[in-house]
Amino acid sequence: MLAYTSGISDVPLLGETIGANLERTVARFAGREALVDVAAGRRWTYAELNAAVDKLARGLLARGIAKGDRVGIWAPNCAEWVLVQYATAKIGAILVNVNPAYRTHELAFVVKQSGLSLLISAVSFKTSDYQAMIEEIGYEKAIFIGSPEWDALSVDGGELPGAELTFDDPINIQYTSGTTGFPKGATLSHHNILNNGFFVGELVDYTEQDRICIPVPLYHCFGMVMGNLAATSHGACMVLPAPGFDPAATLAAVAAERCTSLYGVPTMFIAELGLDTFAEYDLSSLRTGIMAGSPCPVEVMKRVVAEMNMAEVAICYGMTETSPVSTMTRSDDSLARRTETVGRTMPHLESKVLDPDTGRVAERGVPGELCTRGYSVMLGYWDQPEATTEAIDAARWMHTGDLATMDDDGYVNIVGRIKDLVIRGGENVYPREVEEFLYTHPDIADVQVIGVPDPKYGEELMAWVVLRPGAEPLTADRVREFCAGKLSHFKIPRYVHVVDGFPMTVTGKVRKVEMREKSVTLLGLDAAAKTHNA
Ligand code: AMP
Repeated sequence: MLAYTSGISDVPLLGETIGANLERTVARFAGREALVDVAAGRRWTYAELNAAVDKLARGLLARGIAKGDRVGIWAPNCAEWVLVQYATAKIGAILVNVNPAYRTHELAFVVKQSGLSLLISAVSFKTSDYQAMIEEIGYEKAIFIGSPEWDALSVDGGELPGAELTFDDPINIQYTSGTTGFPKGATLSHHNILNNGFFVGELVDYTEQDRICIPVPLYHCFGMVMGNLAATSHGACMVLPAPGFDPAATLAAVAAERCTSLYGVPTMFIAELGLDTFAEYDLSSLRTGIMAGSPCPVEVMKRVVAEMNMAEVAICYGMTETSPVSTMTRSDDSLARRTETVGRTMPHLESKVLDPDTGRVAERGVPGELCTRGYSVMLGYWDQPEATTEAIDAARWMHTGDLATMDDDGYVNIVGRIKDLVIRGGENVYPREVEEFLYTHPDIADVQVIGVPDPKYGEELMAWVVLRPGAEPLTADRVREFCAGKLSHFKIPRYVHVVDGFPMTVTGKVRKVEMREKSVTLLGLDAAAKTHNA
């Protein structure tokens, strides 16, 4: 039997824009709670949320923002993020998610590459002085949340467009760390993300009774699609526990807001389970939740079920380019399948495992590259047609770069990666991007970046560097200083190892697998917590 499945469903795809879908929910559940920003102590019903979204949408129109214009959002999780998401969708402006951890080097690229007409930004968050960074790169079209200009973006009365928007229009650009040294903007339509959010919600049985705790970042699909769109397409409530991830604030929000569902990448659940005060939180309202984003350790899944009351927890697998979820466990799957596999193909989608040697569909049980097809596949990378053609083939299959097997019942297992990618605590880092940046260091002649195992983050970054003749010895601290302020903190290597050269294959390819093995010994790490790169 070949490793191909398609996801069946009695429930049809939604053929509407995000704005139209929100309107339908508001009509059904106007008085129910829609959004709680716990840190700010604010809450909105669906009627109130929709009114605030419409005011902001009119404010954007009044500023000259039109359908197809790119509007950036650069902020940690907050209610304004959600308002901007739906307001841009209502007028057909393309929302550009800017990672709150970005520094000037990354920000400057994204602003230019997407052609931003407007950037809505927080003033600062933790060590990020957004206002200073925006000034440093010389960008002049920013509006800061909370400023008088932001307040003026709220306009009463007047028509909003609707009829001229269609669900296949691009509505969102999400930058993923690039294999080419710079991020690529996965461009997603209403149809892509609305349906993915809706079906994720269907598979965890969301109704208007559900309250979803969303500690995962909104700038990523996990927050704004699997969280927000899953909620608003079912009349459920979005609960934002804190601006940035905080394990104690997350569990406190679950308890205080009586959340029924909790999201997280494995690292987040590990941090929550590891709190000294864990036993003090009342998690009895939880029923379900989602773990995703990187390989989910079976032991952690079991503890989440047993100790966090999340009997129906699901695992999702996917990527930004596929809106994001491609496979997911179902609530009636056995515990073994819900903890040891990434589930089956989502409704209305197709999956296949491709044998890399023959280019044909592999047999069941044989590892190969997982490919996804269907409504969820992105429109393409923003203004990068060649990168798009590399990722999506002529038959519209998205090639994921992940190694997987599919069993006889269609359950998928992620067994490794073909792509050179490190996942540190749920943040993806393409080593190539960090290498390109480190090449700009005056003392570095050559550099290779790898992921090494780490008990807390799953993987940590390590740079092997070859120095220029006569260069000063390079310490990890000096490398970090060089990156500080320019690269996001999660892309800055924790370890630096100075070498004369790299292990190479006969064809001149750097052997990263061998580098990783040597590093595990060198650093005295636990190789059992093996990284997933093939
Ligand atoms: P992103 O585009 O940030 O959503 O990252 C997508 C990548 O994360 C995938 O291509 C996988 O390598 C990895 N990933 C996501 N979910 C899972 C999962 N449940 N198990 C293993 N790897 C995952």
